[in-house]
Amino acid sequence: MSLSITSINGQKVRFGTGLRNDICTELSGLDAQKALVLSTPQQVDMAMELATAIGDRAAGVFTRAAMHTPVDVTNEAVEHAQSVQADSIVSIGGGSTIGLGKAIALRTGLPQIAIPTTYAGSEATPILGQTEGGEKTTLTDAKVLPRVILYDPELVASLPPAMTVNSALNAMAHAAEALYAKDRTEQTTELALDGLRAFADGLPKVIAEPGDLNARQETHRGAWACGTVLGLVGMALHHKLCHVLGGSFNLPHAETHAIVLPHAIAYNAAGVPDVLAPVSQLLGGGEPGQALWDFARKTGAPTALKDLGLTETDLDRATEIALRNPYWNPQPVTAEGLRGLLQNAWAGNAPSA
Ligand code: NAD
Repeated sequence: MSLSITSINGQKVRFGTGLRNDICTELSGLDAQKALVLSTPQQVDMAMELATAIGDRAAGVFTRAAMHTPVDVTNEAVEHAQSVQADSIVSIGGGSTIGLGKAIALRTGLPQIAIPTTYAGSEATPILGQTEGGEKTTLTDAKVLPRVILYDPELVASLPPAMTVNSALNAMAHAAEALYAKDRTEQTTELALDGLRAFADGLPKVIAEPGDLNARQETHRGAWACGTVLGLVGMALHHKLCHVLGGSFNLPHAETHAIVLPHAIAYNAAGVPDVLAPVSQLLGGGEPGQALWDFARKTGAPTALKDLGLTETDLDRATEIALRNPYWNPQPVTAEGLRGLLQNAWAGNAPSA
């Protein structure tokens, strides 16, 4: 089933099987004649296929997108875009590729079309994280928001099972934290619940049958809802911890989110049990953190930070860094509480109630 909407943030968003082949319609909508296609080295084939569909209007492909949007890669890509006189960007891939498109847009003002192949949700936010000199900084700027998103379930159907699960939990983390965001509205809560519901229902189906395009579309819709809400409200403890673990310990993005989420939600449920009650209802009951942990284990998600290479001796330093410049959180964050949370997440224990 195909669907086209104008999102709350003004983006044109389309869902439907084979939509990537309708790319020229969207380029015409932007009055674009020379589109530069972006991807990671791992997704060159998808990028080439897309460039073929674009035909004469393709200005070429740039396939060196990398995790955490390194500024030196962006500088190269901007130079390349200028050398081929690109008038638009088409990003096909996950958060890394879409991040590169945003970074180019920030510097050049070129309009972007995003074709997401994971559930991370970057395509729906005006947020850009970039790394330079080993440091990751994040900014929010309307200029980096893609104008159009094409969600084609055939593209996400090739996502390997582990990435499917980790990426889905990464998306669910945006929605779970949106439920208690200080600046939440009725509309953001509705979007967050819609996103969580889509994954609660769709993720078990895509794990059982990776090629189930209806379920892939449902989970893509979840990614859009979760990503959109990430761009609309502030995040809290969970995102802070993942930022610290990714930025200072180089842990992989989606896996870290998948492991930390049940623990962060269990921690915060003590402060806002009513607000988080729908998480339990959607995932089959129990305390919200435990419900997420059970769901994550059922879907085959990783459960222990130690399996990502974090050592037990890193936990004190991670606690200390996370306590510096803390994000607003619905529940007071103490050194002892945080250290206990990290210990459980490191060891692969169930979250403490
Ligand atoms: P990713 O884009 O880094 O992709 C991981 C790997 O999977 C890459 O090699 C990629 O080519 C490959 N891949 C992606 N889709 C595939 C598919 N369908 N089939 C086969 N291989 C595929 O991973 P991600 O989790 O989507 O993105 C993570 C990055 O996005 C992080 O840098 C994170 O900070 C950023 N992010 C940004 C925002 C934002 O709003 N700015 C939101 C979420 C994530």
